[in-house]
Amino acid sequence: MYLEEKNLLHDNLSVEGSTLKFAGYDTVALCKKYGTPLILLDENKIRNRMRTYKNAMEKYFGTDSRPLYASKALSFVGIYQIANEEGINTDIVSIGELYTAKKAGFPLERAFFHGNSKSDFDIEYAIENGIGFFIVDTYDELYAIDRIATKHNIRQKILLRITPGIDPHTHEAISTGKVDSKFGTAIETGQAMEITKTAISLEGIDLRGFHCHIGSQIFDVKPFCDAADIMIKFIDDVKREAGFNCEYLNLGGGFGVRYVQSDPEIDYEDNIRKISEHINTYCAQNELTCPKILMEPGRSIVADSGITLYTVGSVKEITGYKNYVAIDGGMSDNPRYALYGSEYTVLCANRMDSEDSYECTIAGRLCESGDLIQENVKIPKPQRGDNIAVLVTGAYNYSMASNYNRVTKPAVVLLGEKDRLAIKRESIEDVSRLDITLE
Ligand SMILES: *Cc1c(COP(=O)(O)O)cnc(C)c1O
Repeated sequence: MYLEEKNLLHDNLSVEGSTLKFAGYDTVALCKKYGTPLILLDENKIRNRMRTYKNAMEKYFGTDSRPLYASKALSFVGIYQIANEEGINTDIVSIGELYTAKKAGFPLERAFFHGNSKSDFDIEYAIENGIGFFIVDTYDELYAIDRIATKHNIRQKILLRITPGIDPHTHEAISTGKVDSKFGTAIETGQAMEITKTAISLEGIDLRGFHCHIGSQIFDVKPFCDAADIMIKFIDDVKREAGFNCEYLNLGGGFGVRYVQSDPEIDYEDNIRKISEHINTYCAQNELTCPKILMEPGRSIVADSGITLYTVGSVKEITGYKNYVAIDGGMSDNPRYALYGSEYTVLCANRMDSEDSYECTIAGRLCESGDLIQENVKIPKPQRGDNIAVLVTGAYNYSMASNYNRVTKPAVVLLGEKDRLAIKRESIEDVSRLDITLE
């Protein structure tokens, strides 16, 4: 009865007896097998989401349009292997991600290098490894790439990152399209036109188009359509003022994900259809040629393909105040509540047949009062040793994990035809492997 009431949020969750199942697997049994904290990934769902983006973009924007998996959401060797098998491109934001993609055999000519502060070393390393595109943020970077590309006798393909001046009303820390942003060059100030002209004039630079990314966790298509209008108008201005034909327009990432029941469900294919219709109409009305479209989904590829399982260490009831359920992980594997106050759905994985009437705050194990996973949730009253499941943790959890308090990072297991360890659990030896004992 309780189970029917409980809308389990995503179709890869189910219940058998008292046990939560994920992607068809018994989560409690997996906790015993791999230990906790444990991150489980639904491999089929990841692949399906990549296909949804790829097929929808080809269908609505044309065969030269492509999704790039924004791998900062979750970067490990296996995910680049999967992205490669599914025929999508990737974007990376550091040479650490680049190296991981390379180790996975991902063809780096299909990788796009982002970031607002790339060092000469980063640029040279990426060029030596045959990076496809740089997405260039500033003049300093543009000149550095020109210099290093010229030294290597190549013309380096780039896109310029432009800020269209859109505020998508998401969290301040994940809103990036406004004029006052640490990312990109603004159209409004005239600086975007100037940097474009400079890029065209440089020998080592092969400008192919423009990029914008307005923010993250956006549910509405309107901000994307508004950004596209501004960008296409800019592309037209550049054509008239500088005679430049833009090949690519990259609209960035940012589609929202359903974390809790009050979030809307999103049909990604339909969103892409709506954006494409908008762009095509706008281009037709203004007699503009439409560039090839790229998009950079990160969160919406992996978030709802992941859950995290923990073991309860203690249940503390402060008379007259509240109840704390403390787990064996915390902000070291999921800093998003501490950083942004992000909402999460919490379940007790081994008490799915009990009433969820125990109001409590899920506290991490780190020595920090702000180390909470979620406050005031309702779950069945747990005991030490129970398993707590936090849903929709595939994106920006493991990739933001730290060793604060020298805790070890969780294991990551892919659930497909079988369960496969994708990232080993860190050992306590790993945590001190870089330390040098003083002589
Ligand atoms: C973070 C980021 C993305 C991915 O955003 P999601 O919200 O995870 O889809 C894409 N492009 C750029 C430039 C980003 O910074």
